[in-house]
Amino acid sequence: MQKVALVTGGMGGIGQAVCGQLAMLGFKVVATHTPGNAKVSAWQDFMREKMGGGAGFTGFAIPCDVADYDSCRACVETVEREVGPVDVLVNNAGITRDMTFRRMTRADWDAVIDTNLGSVFNMTRQVIDGMVERKWGRVINVSSVNAQKGAFGQTNYAAAKAGMHGFTKALALEVARYGVTVNTVSPGYIETPMTSVIPTEIMTSKVLPQIPVGRLGSPDEIAALVAYLVSDAAAYMTGADLSINGGMHMS
Ligand code: NDP
Repeated sequence: MQKVALVTGGMGGIGQAVCGQLAMLGFKVVATHTPGNAKVSAWQDFMREKMGGGAGFTGFAIPCDVADYDSCRACVETVEREVGPVDVLVNNAGITRDMTFRRMTRADWDAVIDTNLGSVFNMTRQVIDGMVERKWGRVINVSSVNAQKGAFGQTNYAAAKAGMHGFTKALALEVARYGVTVNTVSPGYIETPMTSVIPTEIMTSKVLPQIPVGRLGSPDEIAALVAYLVSDAAAYMTGADLSINGGMHMS
């Protein structure tokens, strides 16, 4: 039977690539997007064309504010009713609000913590019981190299993303015996709308020189790692934090 994969932020740079690769593997893929996202039907058309109407692309997209528990509950209820129980959850939605800590407001802190870390509780809480009952599940949390190494101007983001991995390790212990794995993927700098806001001058003088491979990563490179983690072949990998950063940080 086709398994269902729910990808938060599935219309963003990395999320879209993850949706594409999981659909190619035959998962029924559902993408969440922010309420009010105006690009939903363009995204559906693009994906349908890209997938050639084959594999597991359902075209199912659902609004969800991942920072809001009730919105996540309603989202998962709808997915379960209309597509099926969620077997794979990719907690991918995220935001940055970069500034030095001395300028950071409470609102900048809360928005980043709630969207990147609160979301992991809000979404995973809705699907974990079903995964445990069915004795198969995959939770993948998309963190960041900047959680592993720290980053100037990102106290909020680094804290949220590092918190994700603490969550991964603790939940991995709790559900390992039920065939459910929980892992973190920590990308370096990837070519997506999130990094397109970095000024070119900063990119060439500050970011690229830190990357031994000499370029940004592509969303498909992250999606390929997610595709491995959701496979049966990855059943023995749980509680891991997988670095994929062009050699920028080795731990
Ligand atoms: P994008 O900005 O392209 O995508 C982010 C996605 O998150 C969007 O699809 C957006 O939805 C969604 N999102 C944001 N806020 C909310 C919310 N409150 N509720 C629901 N969805 C929300 O970024 P990337 O693809 O680059 O990033 C994906 C993940 O990878 C993030 O968690 C990011 O932190 C992480 N990451 C990215 C790196 C990079 O270099 N790009 C490096 C390391 C980690 P919508 O499409 O509706 O706007």
